[in-house]
Amino acid sequence: MDYKRSRADVVIVGLGWAGSVMAEELTRAGLEVVAIERGAWRETSADFPTTTDPDELRYAVRKEILQPAAVETYTFRNNENQTALPGREWNNWTLGMNVGGAGTHWAAASWRFLPWDMQVKSRVLDRYGAKQLVDGLIVQDWGVTYDELEPFYDRFEKIAGTSGTAGVINGVKQPGGNPFEGSRRHPYPTPSLVRSRWNDLFAETTTKMGYHPFPVPAGTIGAAYTNALGINLAPCTYCGYCQLYGCGNWSKSSPNACVMPVLMQRKNFTMLTECEVLRIEKSPDGKTATGAIFIDSDGNYGFQPADIVVISAYQLDNVRLLMLSKLGKIYNPRTGEGTLGRAFNFQTLSYAFLNLPNEYLNPFMNTGALATQIDDFNGDNFDHSGLGFIGGAGIQALSNTGLPISLADQIPPGHRQWGSSWKKDFKESYQNWAMVQGQGTSYAHRTQYMDLDPTYKDRHGQPLLRMTYDYNLNDKRSGAFIRDRCREIAEAVGGKNIRAQSFADDHYNPSRPFDSSHTMGGAVMGLDPNTSVLNRFQQHWDAHNVFVSGASSFPNNGGYNPTITIGALTLHTARAIIDRYIKNPGSLV
Ligand SMILES: Cc1cc2nc3c(=O)[nH]c(=O)nc-3n(C[C@H](O)[C@H](O)[C@H](O)COP(=O)(O)OP(=O)(O)OC[C@H]3O[C@@H](n4cnc5c(N)ncnc54)[C@H](O)[C@@H]3O)c2cc1C
Repeated sequence: MDYKRSRADVVIVGLGWAGSVMAEELTRAGLEVVAIERGAWRETSADFPTTTDPDELRYAVRKEILQPAAVETYTFRNNENQTALPGREWNNWTLGMNVGGAGTHWAAASWRFLPWDMQVKSRVLDRYGAKQLVDGLIVQDWGVTYDELEPFYDRFEKIAGTSGTAGVINGVKQPGGNPFEGSRRHPYPTPSLVRSRWNDLFAETTTKMGYHPFPVPAGTIGAAYTNALGINLAPCTYCGYCQLYGCGNWSKSSPNACVMPVLMQRKNFTMLTECEVLRIEKSPDGKTATGAIFIDSDGNYGFQPADIVVISAYQLDNVRLLMLSKLGKIYNPRTGEGTLGRAFNFQTLSYAFLNLPNEYLNPFMNTGALATQIDDFNGDNFDHSGLGFIGGAGIQALSNTGLPISLADQIPPGHRQWGSSWKKDFKESYQNWAMVQGQGTSYAHRTQYMDLDPTYKDRHGQPLLRMTYDYNLNDKRSGAFIRDRCREIAEAVGGKNIRAQSFADDHYNPSRPFDSSHTMGGAVMGLDPNTSVLNRFQQHWDAHNVFVSGASSFPNNGGYNPTITIGALTLHTARAIIDRYIKNPGSLV
C-alpha cells in the first residue's frame, strides 16, 4: 500500500445515479463521505457539447463517452459448455466511465416499476399457482413493496424533474395517464413531452384497438423546473442528442446536472476521481468491511478506511467487486448453493419495424425518451391463464433517434444497401421508418449467472466478470407473444414492410443492435439469506456495514427501464442508514 487516507464515515464506490443520490442524502445528514470514481469529472455545460459539436461518429457510433473495453470488459457465453470470450466492442453493455456514470448518456425514460414487479413470486402463486412457472425459473419477492418505495420514487422524481402524466393519484385513475401504474401521491414534477407525429399515430391506433396509450415519463424534462435540491433545469429542446451523449443544455436529468452542483458545495464531501477501487477490505473476523483499496491515476495504491462502505459501481461491477472482495458465497449452478452471481437477468425485447409511406415523421425532432406506450400487456396486467409464461412488456412507439449514420441501414428489406438506389431509398425511409418496441420483463433462471472468469484478467491483473446467459423458456414465450402484439399494432397503423421479431427467438448476443442495456441481479435483495445477498435495505447479510445499490439488487426486471427504481431503492437505503444504522450499527432486519 502506498498511502492510507484519513478515516471517513462512509466510502462510496462509483458516482453514477446511485452513488450521487446516496452521497447527497448522507452528507446532508452530516456524515463525512468520500466517493471514489474510476472516471474523470465532467462539467455539464462545458463537457457535453450537445448543441455545438454533437458529432455522431464520435459519440453514437464510436461511443466515446462510454467505458472503453481496454479499461474494463466482461466475458460472455450462452451456456456453461462454451468458453466465454471478452467483449471488445459495445452495443449492449454501454457502461458509464465518468462522474455521473451511465446517468450522463442514458436515454432518460423514467419509469416506476409496477407493484407486481416487486412481489412476483407471491402474486403468481396466488393467482395461477406454481404450474405457471417454467422449470428452473427463479422468482422471489424483493422484500420491499411498491407502497414502501412510493415516497422515495416521489423524492427521486423531484430531484430528476421527471416529466409525465400521472395515471393514478391516491387510488383515483387520471385521464391520459397509465391506468395500470401503482398509485402515486403526487403528479409528476413537470408536464409530459409534446408528442411526435409517430407517437400521435400510435396513440390514435391503440386507442381504437381498445388499449390505453399514455406518454412515457421522461427525464428529458418538459418545462423549466427548480428541483428538490434547488438546481434550475431547462426545458428540453428536442434536439435529439440524448442517448450516448451528455446533455449540455441542463434539460436531461443526470447526476451531473441534478445532484453534483449541490454535492460539490458540501465541506463533508470529498471526491476522488480517476481512482479505481480494486476491492473492499474486510475486518479480521470477516464480519464487517474496513474500507476500500484503490489505485489512482499515477498507479499508486491507496486505502480509504471508513465505517460504512457503499458499493454503487453499476450492476456488473457491484457483483464483481463483491466477488473480488470475497463478500458472499459465489453461486454454483450445479449444486444451487451460493447466492452471489445467482439470479442474473436481463430483458426480452420484441419489435415490429415498419415504414409509413406518405408520412414525413421528421425523426430528428426527438428526445431519448420521447415515446407513447401501452401497458395493457405488461407485468400481470392481463390474464396469463393458459399462456405458459409470466410477465410481458411495455409496448411503445419510440421517437428517440434521427441520427443519419445510425439509421442508414433502415431501408426496406430486399433493397440494395449501397449506390444511387440506396440513396433514394434512404431518403424516403429516413422520413417514414418507425418502430414499435416491446420492452419486456425478464426473470432469472438457474442456468443464468455470473462468476469470475478463470482465464481473462483486467489491466490490474484481476479476473474479469464472466456472464453465462441465454434466454429461458419464459422469455421465449413472452417475447413471441409480445412480438405478435407489436405486429398487430404495426398493421393497424397502416405500416408497410413490417419486420416483426422477438430477440428471444435467437440466442442472446451482446453485440446485437437495438437490444437492451439493462443487466439485472447477481447480488439480489430479499427476505431470505439462502436466496439473496442483501436484505430489504440493500444491506449485506454477511457484513452489516456494506450496502450495495444498483440494479444488481433486482431479483427480476420489469417491462421498463430501471433507473428510477434504482434511485428509489438508494434513497430508501440512505434513509435506513441515517435513521437507524448510524444510531445502532448492525443488521437492520
Ligand atoms: C445507452 C443507455 C441508455 C439508457 N437509457 C436508460 C433509460 O432511458 N432509462 C433508464 O431508466 N435507464 C437507462 N439506462 C440505464 C441507466 O443508465 C443505468 O440504469 C443507470 O445509469 C445505473 O446507475 P448506477 O448508479 O447504478 O451505475 P452507473 O451510472 O454506471 O455508475 C457507476 C459508476 O461507478 C464507476 N465505477 C465502476 N467500477 C468502479 C470501481 N471499481 N472503482 C471506482 N468507480 C467505479 C463507473 O465509472 C460509474 O461512473 C441506459 C443505459 C445506457 C447505457
